[in-house]
Amino acid sequence: MSEASTAARSPVYVIGAGPGGLAVAASLRRRGVPAVVVEKADRVGSSWRGHYDRLHLHTTRRLSSLPGLPMPRRFGRWVGRDDVVTYLEKYAEFHELDVLTGVAVERVEAREGGGWLLRAGGGRVLEGRAVVVATGFNHTPYVPDWAGLEGYGGEVLHAGAYRAPEPFRGKDVLVVGAGNTGAEIAADLAGGGAARVRLAVRTPPYILRRSTLGWPTQRTGILIRRLPVRLVDLLADPVSRLSVPDLSDKGLPRPGGGLLSRARRGAIPVQDVGLIAAIRAGTVEPVAAVEGFADGEAVLADGTRIRPDTVIAATGYRRGLEPLVGHLGVLGPNGRPRTRGSRPLRDAPGLYFTGYTNPISGTLRELALDAERIASRIAKSR
Ligand SMILES: Cc1cc2nc3c(=O)[nH]c(=O)nc-3n(C[C@H](O)[C@H](O)[C@H](O)COP(=O)(O)OP(=O)(O)OC[C@H]3O[C@@H](n4cnc5c(N)ncnc54)[C@H](O)[C@@H]3O)c2cc1C
Repeated sequence: MSEASTAARSPVYVIGAGPGGLAVAASLRRRGVPAVVVEKADRVGSSWRGHYDRLHLHTTRRLSSLPGLPMPRRFGRWVGRDDVVTYLEKYAEFHELDVLTGVAVERVEAREGGGWLLRAGGGRVLEGRAVVVATGFNHTPYVPDWAGLEGYGGEVLHAGAYRAPEPFRGKDVLVVGAGNTGAEIAADLAGGGAARVRLAVRTPPYILRRSTLGWPTQRTGILIRRLPVRLVDLLADPVSRLSVPDLSDKGLPRPGGGLLSRARRGAIPVQDVGLIAAIRAGTVEPVAAVEGFADGEAVLADGTRIRPDTVIAATGYRRGLEPLVGHLGVLGPNGRPRTRGSRPLRDAPGLYFTGYTNPISGTLRELALDAERIASRIAKSR
């Protein structure tokens, strides 16, 4: 048998059994294309299992379901973390997905004669006719390289390791970063018995209500996505002023720079799930950004020095794709794939990526749409 026909007979490998990878595998299966999901953890949905206890989707149940299986109504409109995990388990079961757990893919290589080789832990080599990389936007926790951090005597953890407020009861906590995660953790700590909670903010975020008079903000996000950026920026400021009280006297000035312009650069608006009330009540205190550490204290951008017991870095994640595919020339300078969805790069045919954007319309919704597009393209290329 020729090398080309061997490649054509091999399955499609999907790397990562999060919502993105599972959605692609299910969409392929529904089109009769054999697919195997390779997952480094021992179960599907490992990212969701590790999220903090009080987390609920900011996107609606309906607009967060994956192809071929809606989330059940009993999960409510804003689905909780445990229900998301249950859903992902059921999703894999329902679509009878072939998931190889406990196998970390270390490197993807082009196979001579067509197709791809996946080098995995333990010297394992898998051969696929196509590969879909779905290892997650939030792959590697990122903590800035703060000067003087090694001399700081308090506890430092990344937000990815935060579960619940109990261990911080009675403590003075500094949460660094006012994105969705930092904002929610700060509110959680304030309601959960921390003695003092400060939130270090570099750029004041646009804060939006999760829904207004029953209309979910996510739907607005979907509608405005295709409008001219300047128009949305122009409209967003007065809307934000109407729906969110002025918190300047509490240390959080009004945002600027344009809501959609900033979202396009990756700073998606913060959905309010308790931050506004906590700032108004004074239980979360906005402070200036952290510049570094000195003499056991955090040094803020306005020159203030503070000595919290704990620093929680809600400072984001990196994609961590370099060891996996960096050598293939498919990554841009920001470490993200140079393409997405059903458009493979010319010099990497059959290599697809999903989940490496942070869209204002909801990641799960985009993962679902991308899954169908990628599966359809792969099915046609048989
Ligand atoms: C706190 C938080 C809240 C969010 N809330 C929402 C929301 O409300 N609505 C919404 O639409 N989106 C939300 N998102 C964004 C997004 O939907 C989730 O991050 C989602 O889990 C992304 O799915 P994914 O499959 O792309 O990645 P992940 O869920 O991260 O899955 C990636 C999988 O790949 C595996 N993996 C990684 N590397 C390898 C490797 N080398 N070999 C094998 N396996 C590997 C991982 O173990 C993991 O299981 C949220 C994200 C976070 C962090």
